[in-house]
Amino acid sequence: MKTEDTKGRGKGRRSWRRHRRCLHRYEHLETKKQVLEGADGSDPMWMRVDLFYCQRCLWIKERVLKSHSKEQPTWY
Ligand SMILES: [Zn+2]
Repeated sequence: MKTEDTKGRGKGRRSWRRHRRCLHRYEHLETKKQVLEGADGSDPMWMRVDLFYCQRCLWIKERVLKSHSKEQPTWY
């Protein structure tokens, strides 16, 4: 069995990505709220979408909360 040829290895490839890992630091951007009436008298759908963005890399994160219930959910 041949061992790996080390001749071409040298300093190794620069394959690491340019993007550094970001320790995201989210800032709240906006919150959208919506209530969709349920058909035929069923419970309405409560929907809340929170948008956050990272102060460091501007990555946008979305958090969606939704549930069917008669009463307003506590997170709404
Ligand atoms: Zn980030």
